[in-house]
Amino acid sequence: MKVFAVDLGGTFIKVGVVDENGSILWKRSVKTPPPGNPEKVVTALNELLQESQREFQVSYIGIGCPGSIDRDRGLVRYSPNLDWHDFPLAESLSRETGLEVYVENDANAFVLGEKWFGAGKAKEHIVALTFGTGVGGGVISHNVLITGHLGIGAELGHIIVEPNGPRCGCGSYGCLEAIASARSVARLAAEMVERYPDSFLAKKNEIAAEDVFEAFRKGDTLAKIVLERVSHAVARAVGAYVQFFNPQLIVFGGGLARSSDVLIPLVKEKVPLYVMPSFIGTFEIVQSQLLEDAGIKGAASIVFQRKLI
Ligand SMILES: [Zn+2]
Repeated sequence: MKVFAVDLGGTFIKVGVVDENGSILWKRSVKTPPPGNPEKVVTALNELLQESQREFQVSYIGIGCPGSIDRDRGLVRYSPNLDWHDFPLAESLSRETGLEVYVENDANAFVLGEKWFGAGKAKEHIVALTFGTGVGGGVISHNVLITGHLGIGAELGHIIVEPNGPRCGCGSYGCLEAIASARSVARLAAEMVERYPDSFLAKKNEIAAEDVFEAFRKGDTLAKIVLERVSHAVARAVGAYVQFFNPQLIVFGGGLARSSDVLIPLVKEKVPLYVMPSFIGTFEIVQSQLLEDAGIKGAASIVFQRKLI
């Protein structure tokens, strides 16, 4: 079975033809049309599908999409990144292409990708976190994707890890996302940089999250303070997920996971502070190995999970 897989992002749309072994037989990337244009996205996807079908016959379409997704109907209830409200994505694209279309939240697609083709292969209990502009999460328990009754659950990035912490984009305070997203890590460093004029980061016009990790590797005091706070926040969240779901595996993905050489050891040393003793040593924390292709493989896995289990 071959799947036309779509990683629908706010900046780029990445598509691929993926087989059951997770091999990407064909792929393309195009710029996402301006926000608020779902019909243009459907047109672009149909054109890309036609192009792929000159070489490959696909059976289904799987789409990983940011935002709140009604997965049963393939309806995008609300996507801030795309500025879509109640758009029937599966129905529209199915009408254009004649193929069945399955849509999941992109973080749910990520955990499915890990289960089918990544570190979670042969595991039945997986928690996955994506550290990007925001923090997304997905949970697989007993091989089943946990989504809640409207399909919008497992918002792992909005667990509160600092009750009096910074304001989050969701309106709450001290969410994991408000401390450990790439944007938040950069902001925490920028807020403190004046007090550390000798820091490597003080020389930057604009600080990016990667700069903070790079400075940490050089022994920078400011970077150490920021990443101690960030890693405590992540460890509190991971501790909670471990106690809720008793996973075998926790996978870190997204842009920040590229700095897993720093982040994972800092988090690992702190998680025991935040779990009951019976959970210590019962799970692994690893970096995603799917890298650039995580989105496309995750989107393909949406279909494999629904059709092959
Ligand atoms: Zn939040």
